[in-house]
Amino acid sequence: MSRLIWFNGQLIPAAEARVGVYDHGVLYGDGIFEGIRQYHGRVFEKSAHVRRFFDSAKGIRLAVPYTASQVDAALEETLAANNLQDSYLRLVATRGINDLGISPTNVTNPCVFIIADSIQMYPAELYRDGMPIVTATTIRSHPNSLSPKIKSLNYLNNIAAKWEALDAGVREAVMLNHLGYVCECTADNIFIVRHGELATPCEESGILVGITRGVVLNLARAGGIPIAETNLTRHDLYIADECFITGTGAEIVPITSIDRRTIGTGKPGPITQRLIAAFQKKVREP
Ligand code: PMP
Repeated sequence: MSRLIWFNGQLIPAAEARVGVYDHGVLYGDGIFEGIRQYHGRVFEKSAHVRRFFDSAKGIRLAVPYTASQVDAALEETLAANNLQDSYLRLVATRGINDLGISPTNVTNPCVFIIADSIQMYPAELYRDGMPIVTATTIRSHPNSLSPKIKSLNYLNNIAAKWEALDAGVREAVMLNHLGYVCECTADNIFIVRHGELATPCEESGILVGITRGVVLNLARAGGIPIAETNLTRHDLYIADECFITGTGAEIVPITSIDRRTIGTGKPGPITQRLIAAFQKKVREP
């Protein structure tokens, strides 16, 4: 089925939506994006995603030629035009077209587009039985290099670690930071449970501050589960009672082995299951 793409303010067929070869988003990864979910006709955590989109834009000094409420309306317009109820939205802004040099000055034509499509989650059995992951040797980019808080179009750091996961025969890899602390996975945040406490790398670890991560922390707080946002080592992962990863596309995936070491009992743990149930309830509530 041919989708309609919201492209610089117009809805156009997907086959006609094109970013120019001189666009610095293509030439240098100079741009930003968001991945957003729609459940039962509602955009999940819409304002948090729109806010992070504008924060990412500010982080790379990209002036988005729309207001937050215009972007909000554009997301809704794209969903309505495609007649979607449960979908995945990709909101992108590129630097725009310029000459071949990397200089971002004098680029005044950012390209903003929204794709609404079906969602590709992990296979269902992984949510039920848990998923193996590995730690990558590729470290997460230093926060003073390209801040991982910016959801930029340059994902090569994550893709390098994704290659390591795929080479090891698994779907995700945990990346450590420049200090050796656990940071995040290639496209997901990571949590562990130990002695009934939920722990996740703190923002200062150099993570993308995931919106699903925030939702899970709030659900844990509301459910009386103690939480710690802190530095974690690879050893902490190995001795955890439970582990799971979170992301907009993935939701909450139980992790049952890391570097071929069994986590906890080797099955999704009780706190993980409680949080998955609370999350499933939340995405469906009005
Ligand atoms: N970390 C990285 C590197 C990501 O790309 C993502 C998004 N897929 C996440 C974490 C999870 O963030 P969110 O919950 O906002 O999707």
